Amino acid sequence: MNEISSIQTRRPDHFARWERVRERLRVSYGEAIFKSWLQPLKLADVKNGQAMITVPTRFMREWIIAHYADNILRFWCQEDQTVHSVDIFVKAEPIAIHNPSAQQQQHQPAGLEAAMLGAAANEDKPINPDSISAPLDPRYTFENFVVGKSNELAHAAARRVAESSTVTQGGNPLFVYGGVGLGKTHLMHAIAWHIRKTDPSRKVVYLSAEKFMYLFIRAIRSKDTMAFKEYFRSVDVLMVDDVQFISGKDSTQEEFFHTFNALVDQNKQLIISGDRSPADLEGMEERVKSRLGWGLVADVHSTTYELRLGILQAKLEKVPGAQVPQRVLEFLAHKITSNVRELEGALNRVVAHATLIGGAVTMESTQEVLHDILRANDRRITIEDIQKKVAAHFNIKVTDMHSARRSVAIARPRQIAMYLAKKLTTKSLPEIGRKFGGKDHTTVMHAVKRIDELSRGDKEFADDVELLMRMLQSAT
Ligand code: ADP
Ligand code: MG
Repeated sequence: MNEISSIQTRRPDHFARWERVRERLRVSYGEAIFKSWLQPLKLADVKNGQAMITVPTRFMREWIIAHYADNILRFWCQEDQTVHSVDIFVKAEPIAIHNPSAQQQQHQPAGLEAAMLGAAANEDKPINPDSISAPLDPRYTFENFVVGKSNELAHAAARRVAESSTVTQGGNPLFVYGGVGLGKTHLMHAIAWHIRKTDPSRKVVYLSAEKFMYLFIRAIRSKDTMAFKEYFRSVDVLMVDDVQFISGKDSTQEEFFHTFNALVDQNKQLIISGDRSPADLEGMEERVKSRLGWGLVADVHSTTYELRLGILQAKLEKVPGAQVPQRVLEFLAHKITSNVRELEGALNRVVAHATLIGGAVTMESTQEVLHDILRANDRRITIEDIQKKVAAHFNIKVTDMHSARRSVAIARPRQIAMYLAKKLTTKSLPEIGRKFGGKDHTTVMHAVKRIDELSRGDKEFADDVELLMRMLQSAT
């Protein structure tokens, strides 16, 4: 009888793995990018450690290789260690052949997404202007936005811009920044919904910086940059989401800058979001940064417990019939501190699980359903944690982390802490510098380099740093 089970050598299920890789891509890049770029990828086969993926156009292939291939490979290796390369091929979607003299226009893909997925033959055709503004999420309205300490400034600014029928004085551009999943996109959509409702004659365009870049590159390829420029200069309210995406992309930045200036000159409203303040955007030209910071700059901070609880309650009211004990809501608000997207996801999972098995939501079921998220939230390390741990380890004061003292006994631990902050958190160099008593980003860069050098030359030193890193990763 044992033989039967041993004979059943399971065929590795590449397609199931691919599904998991796709899920992780969706989570890492968010729904918008996933839909535009990653959803169209299809797994063709996995052979001899080579995963073969097809895309519909040459342009997409280049784009995927430039932006996403590293992570696709990384995620795949985590699913299946025998995979050592991911290869991307163009395979045009089968398209119907039409009589060329008949109305070709009708067979053009509609909408940007379709245009991007368009068969190779259509690749260099200009894009239909109606498809430039991305679709707005109907849930992202002001009514559905819960206001708390951490987002009240950004919310007030967004309201003001939305409710004013002309450009708001001192509020152009409105620049909203903050970490992922804290409501920036929600606020931008809310502004767009509001203006569309109250003042439909104003032309409101919302798009991601990534799409702006895509459209621009495409306009260059189809030798149609005039139409591109004209289109963007004819907009009344332009919103560009996640502007950090065009960091380091010089020609797109240049074009963005000109569009920006042209609109400001014509007294049109601009609303921009980014993951950090204009001054902290790395890889962005100085003149662009300074322009971005011209108007009203509002940040969304990490959420507070009260806001998280408020959001959970508001979301729950939107799910008919769902019953979640207050204790569970409090538990979630207490535990899931990373961002609102994760918080919402957690609530959805808890509710979906109860619906699926037909039981009630309890503390036990919640902990079980969310064990992975709860663990990940436990592990998040802050710069303060690092400073405390390193100071304790070297027997110096935490305040020395912020000082300018240069004696090696103080300066070295401070450099180690900066190094660990760079390795263990997602903070940028300027942000790290600020947390160390307002030091310049070059000081942090120097510290990282110095610790790397010392670690290479001195095994004992390297072990010390390694030990601190491990302690931080396993604590908190
Ligand atoms: P960001 O653009 O900052 O990454 P999003 O705007 O996409 O974040 O927000 C992530 C999710 O969290 C969205 O589903 C959004 O509706 C929700 N969300 C964020 N902040 C709030 C809030 N204050 N009230 C209600 N929902 C929120
Ligand atoms: Mg966003």
